[in-house]
Amino acid sequence: MNNIYHQEMVKEAVKAKFRGKSTVVSKGVPAYPFSAEREFRRITDAYMGLLNQTLKAHIPEMMNAYKKERHGDSRFDDSRDLDNEIRRMLQKVSEELEKSLADFGLDDKIRKISEILKSKSTREWKRIIKNTFAIDITEDYFSGEFYKDAIERWIADNILKIKSIPTDTLGNMRKILLDSYLNGRPIRDIQKDIQEEYNVTKSKARSLARDQISTLNAQITKLQQQDAGVKRYKWSTSKDSRVRDCHRELDGKIFSWDDPPEMWYMTKSRGIVYTGRRCHPGEDYCCRCVAIPVFDYETIDLPITSKGSLTTNGRAA
Ligand SMILES: [Zn+2]
Repeated sequence: MNNIYHQEMVKEAVKAKFRGKSTVVSKGVPAYPFSAEREFRRITDAYMGLLNQTLKAHIPEMMNAYKKERHGDSRFDDSRDLDNEIRRMLQKVSEELEKSLADFGLDDKIRKISEILKSKSTREWKRIIKNTFAIDITEDYFSGEFYKDAIERWIADNILKIKSIPTDTLGNMRKILLDSYLNGRPIRDIQKDIQEEYNVTKSKARSLARDQISTLNAQITKLQQQDAGVKRYKWSTSKDSRVRDCHRELDGKIFSWDDPPEMWYMTKSRGIVYTGRRCHPGEDYCCRCVAIPVFDYETIDLPITSKGSLTTNGRAA
């Protein structure tokens, strides 16, 4: 926001809550968007389920190619022929998969996730402002262009990342099949390896979904707070056993949006190792931490109308 008259009106509306001080820490912690995370996981699970289905339909055929070879009915003069045969079979899997994935509507589903996350975090922001200053912000302010660039980039990036997962998996399966054959491994071992590869893929997709929700949530939070003239935040973890040591150390400390802290991890042999990466809450891999805004009286600006500066019972805040 950048209108000086509007800003004066906002300052007037929130003045009492600063009680003469230059800063006030938000009352209430922005909730982490677990609902969006769950919804995203459902989508990646279903997407990877299509991969599993297609693979299962083709595994008997692949195993037959092995059996024939093992019983001397050889069609393969050397490993190159086998490699070609494996490629041919996996190509068929890949084409079939492409058809079912095209019908899946991944793009629309990811866009829906971004909508869920956007409205969830806008509601959280509204709640925080209400708790801290007893005023209502206009949600419409955030509905149009406000997050557009960040969200469009996020959607495009996610579609690419998710679509590359089945392709990578098929590549790994080709290696499993070829290596197993060259080492003369029994068929049941190969089937186990293929299933294992699929399980790894599925959990990779789940981690991606988790990480991407925290990434977008972090971006949205930063946009909201900086737009409101917030220069600093208090780091807040989810306070459970999964919180990493580094973030537990940062919990409750105040950082500037211009100067995020450096991440580190603990090793047994070398103690603390700094990674060189600087992150705000939610920017580190799969981080569920959030930023509690520290409002500045001098720079505060919020999307309110003069009517919005009244509390729900009609009295001036
Ligand atoms: Zn964290």
